[in-house]
Amino acid sequence: MKLSINNLCKTYANGVVALDDLSLDIGLGLFGLLGPNGAGKSSLMRTIAALQTADSGTVSFDEIDVLKQKAQIRKVLGYLPQEFGVFPKTSAYKLLDYYALLKGIGHKKQRKETVEGLLNLVNLYQDKNKNVYEFSGGMKQRFGIAQALIGNPKLIIVDEPTAGLDPGERVRFNNLLSQTGEDRIVLLSTHIVDDVSDLCSDMAIINKGKVIMKGAPVDLIDALADRVWEKQISKKDYDKYCQKYEVIHSRLHAGNPLIHIMNEDNPENGFVKITPKLDDVYFTAINTQNNNVSK
Ligand code: ADP
Repeated sequence: MKLSINNLCKTYANGVVALDDLSLDIGLGLFGLLGPNGAGKSSLMRTIAALQTADSGTVSFDEIDVLKQKAQIRKVLGYLPQEFGVFPKTSAYKLLDYYALLKGIGHKKQRKETVEGLLNLVNLYQDKNKNVYEFSGGMKQRFGIAQALIGNPKLIIVDEPTAGLDPGERVRFNNLLSQTGEDRIVLLSTHIVDDVSDLCSDMAIINKGKVIMKGAPVDLIDALADRVWEKQISKKDYDKYCQKYEVIHSRLHAGNPLIHIMNEDNPENGFVKITPKLDDVYFTAINTQNNNVSK
């Protein structure tokens, strides 16, 4: 099973280049697509889901030419968009039943089995008679996964699914996503680095419509080993450190900046060597691209 994206380009009517000669090969399992807001993730997802056209390039899923054979790709695709839209005043059961009918499950008994099975899987069976629009954010996202799984699709696309979920809901949703990735391709778009390190065996970082890094998270992290150093500094010194060192990123810790820098040798000056994480990989890739563009 393989999803193959080749030289995809898309410029919107307002002149924004959303996809810039983007190529990517994706195999079985959960694949993380990481990038800042505006990187082009949703544009890519919508193109793969045959919901919008590309200016040039190709997308194939096994034998299907995705950009040309829209009906065929829709048969094997489940899609959880970023914005689900407005839910009608209908119970979870009835709405899922309706989606199953739309997806071509015409036989009543088969539809009942499908709907009940999916509600069980996403742990919403006990809430099946509640209106979906009254669900919490996490319940809505789990419902979204249930509708994406109708008909057992081989390719699932989920666009920023954990944005806006509280930590407990996020863990429950990620566990569910992890289960669904066992025998299909699940493409997960997110700007939450931890979701990718928690879930994905393969990933790409995209920015400004281009793939700027691709690989297994463990390998990408390994490549930074022994080069990332950490120090807590005071706010007033922040600019000074940025001038002196290659600062990868900083976050506040107890009100003061905790900075990570990249350095081949021990920088001394109170820095401590740390085991890098995926956010070090992510910010290094984004900073490198931004620096190259501004040069
Ligand atoms: P992401 O999902 O990574 O946040 P998007 O694919 O939504 O990125 O957006 C990529 C760029 O394309 C952004 O600059 C965005 O403003 C722009 N864009 C997205 N959709 C449209 C559209 N329909 N018309 C014009 N510009 C768009």
